[in-house]
Amino acid sequence: MRLRLAPLAALCAAIALAAPPLPPPRRPKLILAIVVDQFRYDYLLRYRTDFTSGLKRLLDQGAVFDDAHYIHVPTVTAVGHSTILSGATPAMSGIVANEWYDRALGKNVTSVTDSNTRLLGAAAGAEGSSPRRMLVSTVGDEIKMSGQESKVIGVSIKDRSAILPAGHMADGAYWFDNKSGHWVTSTYYKDALPPWVEKFNATKPAAKATGADWLPFASKPGAKPFCNMDAVKGDVPKCRSLEASPWGNEMIEEFAEQALAAEKLGQHKGTDVLSVSFSSNDYVGHAMGPDSPEAHDITVRTDRVIGKLFDAIDKSVGMSNVVVFLTADHGVSPVPEVNRDRHMPGGRNISADLSKAIEDGLSARYGAGQWIVGREGWQPYFNLTLIASKKLDEAEVQRTAAAIVRRQPHVFAVFTNQQLLNGPMPGGPVAAGVQNGFYYGRSPDLTIIQDPFYLFSTATENSGTSHGTPFNYDTHVPVIFMGTGIKAGHYFQRVAVNDIAPTISAIVGVQEPSGSVGRVLQEMWQ
Ligand SMILES: [Zn+2]
Repeated sequence: MRLRLAPLAALCAAIALAAPPLPPPRRPKLILAIVVDQFRYDYLLRYRTDFTSGLKRLLDQGAVFDDAHYIHVPTVTAVGHSTILSGATPAMSGIVANEWYDRALGKNVTSVTDSNTRLLGAAAGAEGSSPRRMLVSTVGDEIKMSGQESKVIGVSIKDRSAILPAGHMADGAYWFDNKSGHWVTSTYYKDALPPWVEKFNATKPAAKATGADWLPFASKPGAKPFCNMDAVKGDVPKCRSLEASPWGNEMIEEFAEQALAAEKLGQHKGTDVLSVSFSSNDYVGHAMGPDSPEAHDITVRTDRVIGKLFDAIDKSVGMSNVVVFLTADHGVSPVPEVNRDRHMPGGRNISADLSKAIEDGLSARYGAGQWIVGREGWQPYFNLTLIASKKLDEAEVQRTAAAIVRRQPHVFAVFTNQQLLNGPMPGGPVAAGVQNGFYYGRSPDLTIIQDPFYLFSTATENSGTSHGTPFNYDTHVPVIFMGTGIKAGHYFQRVAVNDIAPTISAIVGVQEPSGSVGRVLQEMWQ
């Protein structure tokens, strides 16, 4: 019998292999993109039992990709947000950092500030923001270009986090202006703030937090607050800002609900896109670190605000008509002092020392001068006029500076701009991440990677923590999809955040974005 069955089994296997792959789920009415700023993947594991609402629903009913990573350096907000709905690396998108030195302007520019635009809703004449520095399309752009009747809206406290996922053809991107306490947009999108946003601003959304104590979630009466929004009260410190409190995320969620209703999202002939980026987690995480009670608390509260947004969508569109995904723009490193106390590696480098070492070293070798004209973080842009006037070779000056940096403490790797352009590059994931993050003309002349768990600090900014490295604590983020036709469960194959955009494009049935380097995650089709 076994002998006779064997060919049959082989035949079945062959048929299974030849079977056409399943089609994507049916086209939804709405794509809901949820980004949580600085949400490490491991928060899903550490705080799983605290989730009762939105995150619980995603974990129970969604396709959870447990080993999803960014494949670029630096792992920061603008770059993450430019990746999520474009599928592009910075090498493709040109969004190489939160801000960089613009040689033509002779000053630093952010990923989105645009002197040709004005803010709407804030002080008259304030400079606005736009997606014009992003060189690639997003899923929203591709839906628009396909001719579908569709609306695309981006919402966040941070301008870059509202603008970059939504793309160039978005109907609107809205963010919070701390100075005026208003939600704003720019003249890139519209000539005037829409009436529904004016109405929301008239409710003074930021005033809710005035004087409030930030208490641990569901705490008993008499519990000690983390901070008070207005003042130091005894041993209770003053909260840093609205953005760095739970009310920041709550305000984002309320604004998203208003956008949903006023723009009738999910009620057009084509597929609409609503991108919502929760920013408060990043502000809290920077100040207090990923192991703090505050980070735990804002994570639990994030579960509740996402649940509230799902409830609103259930009422207006029905979640069965929505494909939702959740991810983060980057992770975060533990606070160096916390690591030191638990015998883990890590520490702080003073960035001014590094700049001085480079200036001194280049002056000693080639003669005095101001060798560094700009910086992206601690990474230098060299003075090309000085290099030309001394008839030096740009690549050689970069190599000399890189050798100086390599001799500094806790430097893991240094790459020169010329090396990234022409090689040779070493192998391995760190070099690949740096190459993926490099765009000539915007990236700094040296890309400097510190040892794992090390941070650059200044003499005054030397508490809290940060992110930006190629190491797993910064690259590993949640990627969860949920919707009709998506098979719930855990998927442990390694995937890239860049896979989200082509996957959503396949679900909506449009061209994948122009710079996407990801693949379609068709293993989750039902
Ligand atoms: Zn951050």
